[in-house]
Amino acid sequence: MPRCAELTCGRWRPERLVPRWATGLRFNGRWYCSRPCVELAVRARLDAPVAAGAVPPSLPPLRLGVLLRHLGVIAEPDLERALAGQRESGLRLGAELRRLGLVGPEAVLRALAAQSGVSYLASFDARRAAHGPSWLSEPMVRALGLIPFEVEPVSRTVRVICTAPVPRAAMRALTKLTGWLPEPYLVDDAVWDEALVQYHAAPEGTPSVSSTVDTLAAAASRVADLAQQDRAVTMRHATYDHYTWVRIEGTQQLADLIVAGVQEEPCLAAHTAH
Ligand SMILES: [Zn+2]
Repeated sequence: MPRCAELTCGRWRPERLVPRWATGLRFNGRWYCSRPCVELAVRARLDAPVAAGAVPPSLPPLRLGVLLRHLGVIAEPDLERALAGQRESGLRLGAELRRLGLVGPEAVLRALAAQSGVSYLASFDARRAAHGPSWLSEPMVRALGLIPFEVEPVSRTVRVICTAPVPRAAMRALTKLTGWLPEPYLVDDAVWDEALVQYHAAPEGTPSVSSTVDTLAAAASRVADLAQQDRAVTMRHATYDHYTWVRIEGTQQLADLIVAGVQEEPCLAAHTAH
């Protein structure tokens, strides 16, 4: 491909040996004449609307109260008392039941896990989170709501802890961008917070830098910067909930960008307006 891959540019690639500044950049395996052209290409990719129906609809989960009744954890009058108390306290049902002393933490966790069809850990040694993989930085872990604590390299499975509701969209994003399949274990909110404190990316492996930006335009600019530094980068991205996660791999670095509040982008608003 002898021309700049940015369609609005189409500049010819110089055939003869030229000064380093004129040799252009590689982005996702294609040649671009300059940083601005890479930025345009990144922007076009990030703005492309996600195919509708990409998220499979799931059956509505059984309500927690119904499940706790079914499991024989609480009786009907207890449930009614908690539902009434919930209207005043504003707590989630599980928290309200615990506040009233009607159930223990494990009963709620067990029901929430059954509700989501995942396993749970009644107790978790937060220090296990310190042995997580090196390819996810602490801000990324926080943004995903998933703390990795064990990996199975052969099956590319990573065991993660999360809180209810299980962040399915974040799990799909993790698989798309890293190739690792998360195996979720539900834990109590307090346990998750404690584990996050313990989570440190292992020092070996490719150092991952991560940062948060406000707009897709800012993300495109950062990707173009990295392309200019590394001369050749590949980018993958996934959108989940209100985030877009952009992962850039170059010859020298691995960087993660989290774009928050993506739905406010004017370009995306135009896509979804009709
Ligand atoms: Zn160009």
